Amino acid sequence: MTTPSTPPPLPDAPPALGLEREIPLARHTYLRIGGPAAYFGTPPDIRTFIEIWAWAKAQAIPLRIIGGGSNMLVADEGVHAVVVSLRRACGRLEFEGASVYAGAAVMLPALAKAAAERSLGGVEFAIGIPGDIGGAMQTNAGIGDGRSIGDVVASVEVLRDGKPVTLPRAQVAFDYRHTSLRAAHELVLGATLTLTPRPRGEIEAEMGRLLAARQATQPTAEPNAGSVFRNPPEGRAGQMIEEVGGKGITSGTAHVSSLHANFIVHDGHATARQYVEVMTEVQRRVFATYGVRLIPEIEWWGDGPPPEVFQ
Ligand SMILES: Cc1cc2nc3c(=O)[nH]c(=O)nc-3n(C[C@H](O)[C@H](O)[C@H](O)COP(=O)(O)OP(=O)(O)OC[C@H]3O[C@@H](n4cnc5c(N)ncnc54)[C@H](O)[C@@H]3O)c2cc1C
Repeated sequence: MTTPSTPPPLPDAPPALGLEREIPLARHTYLRIGGPAAYFGTPPDIRTFIEIWAWAKAQAIPLRIIGGGSNMLVADEGVHAVVVSLRRACGRLEFEGASVYAGAAVMLPALAKAAAERSLGGVEFAIGIPGDIGGAMQTNAGIGDGRSIGDVVASVEVLRDGKPVTLPRAQVAFDYRHTSLRAAHELVLGATLTLTPRPRGEIEAEMGRLLAARQATQPTAEPNAGSVFRNPPEGRAGQMIEEVGGKGITSGTAHVSSLHANFIVHDGHATARQYVEVMTEVQRRVFATYGVRLIPEIEWWGDGPPPEVFQ
């Protein structure tokens, strides 16, 4: 019998939608942390994606898209949601002159390499960012010198009320690690970018330098979520964390990286709860010393109110 504390059983999805049940999101996140998605699907095409969207809406179950899974921390309890990966439906990459249409699931490094092969520059900065176009349209992925994906976007294709719609660049705002697409919860299908002709050798040399710099300064061998906190107006988050002795902060196997203080890493077995504990202590110490409340750059995926560090 169903009691008030027992959630109602979840409906069966029509088999044609290809949704699987209770799929651990740790398998799909860069951080390798996260409990199950109630439903998980990789639709083969946009038509099936629209059918999944319509079914989730009819059932009043939230729909979430997962891209590279590189900018999120998923709760140990998972999410009561239909989680969709567009890697089969939106993987199209098509060049026409200096213009390129990249489907939402095209990974940024693959885009940068494909552009380089055609002697097209403009996305060199993206070579080491492990997200896809859909994710980049949410976070305005970019690097420390100010370059970001928003610089080269000509238009963005989104799914609105179950129909693909193309938004010209002028209708989209790109800010520091944020966009109006994110604020409006737009479902991104792809984007058209305008690139710039540049000798391939120059592009590849620059990408090599960028990758080498990452290798030297970031803990690339351990599961991580990139920069955990946004840089506040007062300075660089990593430097502040280092100055308050953040590199010693640990919970379970989750700990602040000894290489880069704005990275929290683990051995592959930490829980989301431990990860949050490390974040919370980092935030507490920086606030105690500088009066600055660090805001997470990574996103919390969970049901109910997020942990305090994310609020
Ligand atoms: C090692 C490492 C290095 C990193 N370096 C950088 C860096 O230099 N610069 C930088 O900007 N970021 C960096 N990041 C963070 C991250 O890679 C970027 O924020 C990236 O843009 C996130 O893309 P994603 O596809 O992984 O998004 P996900 O983590 O999969 O998703 C992030 C959010 O976007 C939403 N989303 C994803 N796809 C869609 C879609 N198609 N439509 C609607 N919503 C969608 C998700 O629902 C979620 O809310 C780094 C991360 C790691 C792990």
